[in-house]
Amino acid sequence: MKLATFTVGGAAEIGVVAGEAIIPISRAAPQLAGPMIDLISRWPELRGEVERIAAAGADALALTAVRLEAPIRRPGKIMAIGLNYADHIAESGMETPPHQVWFSKAATAASGPFDPIMIPHGAAAVDYEAELVAVVGSGGRNLSKASAQTAVFGYCVGNDATERAWQHRTSQWVLGKSFDSHAPFGPWITTADEVPDPHALGVRCSVNGELRQNSNTKNLVFNLWDQIEHLSQAMTLEPGDLIFTGTPGGVGAAMKPMRFLQPGDRVRVEIDTLGAIENPCARGP
Ligand code: ZN
Repeated sequence: MKLATFTVGGAAEIGVVAGEAIIPISRAAPQLAGPMIDLISRWPELRGEVERIAAAGADALALTAVRLEAPIRRPGKIMAIGLNYADHIAESGMETPPHQVWFSKAATAASGPFDPIMIPHGAAAVDYEAELVAVVGSGGRNLSKASAQTAVFGYCVGNDATERAWQHRTSQWVLGKSFDSHAPFGPWITTADEVPDPHALGVRCSVNGELRQNSNTKNLVFNLWDQIEHLSQAMTLEPGDLIFTGTPGGVGAAMKPMRFLQPGDRVRVEIDTLGAIENPCARGP
């Protein structure tokens, strides 16, 4: 199932995407009118009803007639792993890290699949990072690799947009990774049952139609189950948390000369099975 958060001029609603249409489940069942994070939290209990409403197809809207929003408007946390594809490690001039390198992106960085990536005044080094994003479902603490597989609710396409100057001028990356609008993701959540192997998905990023990144999640250094096992030793993973799983080679900072995002650029990230997000770049605030 593909679950989206959308608006048609008013309050956010949740819908099931079916081909070129979206079925607004919150209209059919008022108890489903809460935010996506509530639906994820209560998924075992609500799934059957959502499937029934989707199958009935009442009130279907054309996808082109709605605005797709961030599937989860305010995730509890956004965790992201760095240096997790061999070609990106090489282009960064780094060694393969012996331990997983984690940082967080502020929850306020979350934005929609077609929202602008804002390039702040004075920032000249905003870059893209195409990434598979896992959405935590049941979550938990001290998860094994095996239980990690049932702790994931679904998957999105994400862009771990980064202000490189802010990222590298201190040893902690969090501010350079946390500018508002720098975690666009979507276009919807594809539930885990529709992604039999998250480690076999082509990942591509293009800027203004020029292919910049082209890899596959089979190339992850630490795969998603390793990541969840490791992360959950430190923290409780909760429904709706996002895990950005790393970016392959081809970022703008590694090009010679470096090529950062400019106002007017359009960044498209697509992942097999999951769809695509496309964000225009704009100056401000
Ligand atoms: Zn990243």
